[in-house]
Amino acid sequence: MFGRGAKKSDSTKYYEVLGVSKDATQEDLKKAYRKAAIKNHPDKGGDPEKFKELAQAYEVLSDPEKREIYDQYGEDALKEGMGSGGGMHDPFDIFQSFFGGGNPFGGGGGSRGRRQRRGEDVVQPLKISLEDMYSGTLKKLSVSRNIICSKCNGKGSKSGNLMKCTGCQGSGMKVTTRQLGPGMIQQMQHPCNECKGTGESIDEKDRCPQCKGEKVVQEKKVFEVIVEKGMQNGQKITFPGEADEAPDTITGDIVFVLQQKEHPKFKRKGDDLFVEHTLSLVEALCGFRFILTHLDGRQLLIKSNPGEVVKPDQFKAINDEGMPVYQRTFMKGKLYIHFTVEFPDSLNPEQIKALEAVLPPRSSMQLLDTELDECEETTLHDVNMEEEMRRKQAQAQEAYDEDEDMPGVGQRVQCAQQ
Ligand SMILES: [Zn+2]
Ligand SMILES: [Zn+2]
Repeated sequence: MFGRGAKKSDSTKYYEVLGVSKDATQEDLKKAYRKAAIKNHPDKGGDPEKFKELAQAYEVLSDPEKREIYDQYGEDALKEGMGSGGGMHDPFDIFQSFFGGGNPFGGGGGSRGRRQRRGEDVVQPLKISLEDMYSGTLKKLSVSRNIICSKCNGKGSKSGNLMKCTGCQGSGMKVTTRQLGPGMIQQMQHPCNECKGTGESIDEKDRCPQCKGEKVVQEKKVFEVIVEKGMQNGQKITFPGEADEAPDTITGDIVFVLQQKEHPKFKRKGDDLFVEHTLSLVEALCGFRFILTHLDGRQLLIKSNPGEVVKPDQFKAINDEGMPVYQRTFMKGKLYIHFTVEFPDSLNPEQIKALEAVLPPRSSMQLLDTELDECEETTLHDVNMEEEMRRKQAQAQEAYDEDEDMPGVGQRVQCAQQ
């Protein structure tokens, strides 16, 4: 299984397999193996050959003695040096001892061929301001997690021995029977309360003093979450294999999910930004300029083109002042400005006269007296249209409900009489 395909003994292949340089530290190797092994694990749909190669490479390079032999003489020398009885470990064992045992090869390998369950991922929301999503930031987050107890290597006992739980004879389940009636017995199965369903027990005197037999201890770990420019709301940043550790379990991932905080001024849609701006009537008609402080603190001068009139509800856009595009930060979206125009509530006769002198003539005054004679006078009232519509909808709903409540003919008559 070793040296497959490599005729000439070289001493770089393992480094290439793990994607590290030849002077990689133990920490570098661990990181590289952790990442690649999770990615290529056959349980997660990875290539078994690649998974095997990774395990081989890691097994050799993480052992200083083997690494030295490999560096000097290549993999053939290792193969010979290990003799016929040695050979490489099962890649699944290597994976297990790495993730299950906390320190690789410290646990002496696991049971060969036994597939493990995968631990749960820990998903944590991470609130990020729009400013930070615009400029990028580094967040340090302290997360408390379970890790395999280093004192007992996840065995839970000083001796390393486990006893069968006496409550359930090691099955982890207990059966209770209940007499329901004459000749009727109900059997119920539930997890053993003495061993919490594990089927194991540890003698009180043999319990590991560090983890009190729990096999795991809590640690606080600080994660450095790099929020890149242009990342989106809901985007996930994953730390593979960093969730709670448990014996015989492939450690799940810690996943941070970005949650964009509301911004008082800017709204975001994808890579575009939206800003609301209110103009006075004179600004809308005769021109305006104002300063907008951008998300990175830059002051943008925003002004109308000469002679241009801005209408209520109009949009204008500034190119390349939207959000940076994720991983293509030289590109940016648009910055849209939505204009509201504030009209004066009333005008006095002089103002009207002055405006009439400069504005285009109105057409509505040219009504004939004969036409007016035939008309009825009306009065315009102020209304809050939203409120009006809401009230009408409520009324319609009420009428509908009444209809539902009283389907009888007699009641209809009663209604009509009221
Ligand atoms: Zn039990
Ligand atoms: Zn312990």
